[in-house]
Amino acid sequence: MQLSHVTPVEFDPDLIARHDRSGPRYTSYPTADRFVEGPVAQQYVDALQSRQSERPGAALSLYVHLPFCDTVCYYCACNKIATKDRSRADRYLDYLEREIALVRTQFKVQPEVSQLHLGGGTPTFLTNAQMERLLSMLKASFTFTHSAECSVEIDPRRLNDGALALMAAHGFNRMSIGVQDLDPVVQKAVNRIQPPELTHAVLEQGRGLGYQSINLDLIYGLPKQSVQTMQATLTTVLQWRPDRIALYSYAHLPERFMPQRRIEVADLPMPAEKLAMLKLAVTTLLDAGYVYIGMDHFALPEDELAISLDQGTLQRNFQGYATQADCDLIALGVSAISRIGNVYAQNHRVLDDYYAAIDQQQLPLVKGLVMTQDDLIRRAAIHDLLCQSKIVLADFEATWGVDFAQYFAPELVQIAAHQVDGLVTLKDGVIAITPRGRFLARIVAMSFDRHLREARSTAKFSRVI
Ligand code: SF4
Repeated sequence: MQLSHVTPVEFDPDLIARHDRSGPRYTSYPTADRFVEGPVAQQYVDALQSRQSERPGAALSLYVHLPFCDTVCYYCACNKIATKDRSRADRYLDYLEREIALVRTQFKVQPEVSQLHLGGGTPTFLTNAQMERLLSMLKASFTFTHSAECSVEIDPRRLNDGALALMAAHGFNRMSIGVQDLDPVVQKAVNRIQPPELTHAVLEQGRGLGYQSINLDLIYGLPKQSVQTMQATLTTVLQWRPDRIALYSYAHLPERFMPQRRIEVADLPMPAEKLAMLKLAVTTLLDAGYVYIGMDHFALPEDELAISLDQGTLQRNFQGYATQADCDLIALGVSAISRIGNVYAQNHRVLDDYYAAIDQQQLPLVKGLVMTQDDLIRRAAIHDLLCQSKIVLADFEATWGVDFAQYFAPELVQIAAHQVDGLVTLKDGVIAITPRGRFLARIVAMSFDRHLREARSTAKFSRVI
């Protein structure tokens, strides 16, 4: 398939190494570290009510966080709870049911949902009976559109017989499989033993059941990984030809993420080796016909993500890149982040706090943020750079009613510096990311992040490489 509007990508290791600094991935702007405690539940309820009067027919996205994992991968930076006790999920579902009821009372008519994502933790930690219960609960409270995209994160090691078929029968049609690396020595070093045959069998089972856009997650920079192990992993993965591949950089932050303390620093690849792995992975994927979508994501040209990129309709949300227009998102479960209109609202991160709020008949929200007009404008600029690789200044000014040169005067100074470095061009009224700059798009996007510039952000973000 010919994708004529996609900016090509050129891997420039020197340029990437020069700009290797930490920065947000912009699954939201402002980033979640900016959220503050306060009257967030009221702001969220107000936003839901305005939504009903202003855009009653607009479909929603739903996200459900399922936090349990029965073993811990040492590289993990997710919000999860390690347990082998499946009955803990029964109690969690009891509370999810009550949370859904609390949200549902805000709607006069049953809301329509066009996207559902189950994330974690490990969604497939649930037994089939628990999964059936969860999906029935959601269907009892929300109406799913005929073409709804329903996706789930799969851990092949924890997939019950019949679970994929059960979810397919409930309309699940997308899945993402956690892999990271196929090398047994690397798998042992990160405490995630997952035979390649198992991963392949799950992928094929998903295909057989009609799941589309099947994604595989890989990570580079793990302990015991090398260019050779990466080459071997890629060779096998490419034989399987998943529709999408996410290639994440491992960020070693043991002071923040306890499991990472189990990783021997001496086993981590040096920065030059890590960069070599990235180069190998990128060139191998491009040579194999994958399209670079942006940030960490690749897709086959016929996949809807690549088509969306070509058509200029690509979106970015909490799950990464997406094809559907920017829907309001209701997120359920511990630590989940919702966005309704200009309001972000995050649930308690600690399970007992989440349960305690629901016991008091309260929405279990703890932090959030009401976006200002300035936040919305900057969010749009960052979105355009990460999803379209450009900002067309006249279009931007018409949409947002600002004089770009005046409004973004300090940012344009940084853009000029990025231009000298070859990351962007600014001509004919368009800021465009260059082919060499595509891997560094988030560095360019950071120029528009006011919170970062004013150093009000205290979060430690991952590095580019
Ligand atoms: S990487 Fe996934 S499966 Fe492993 S501990 Fe983290 S959330 Fe659980």
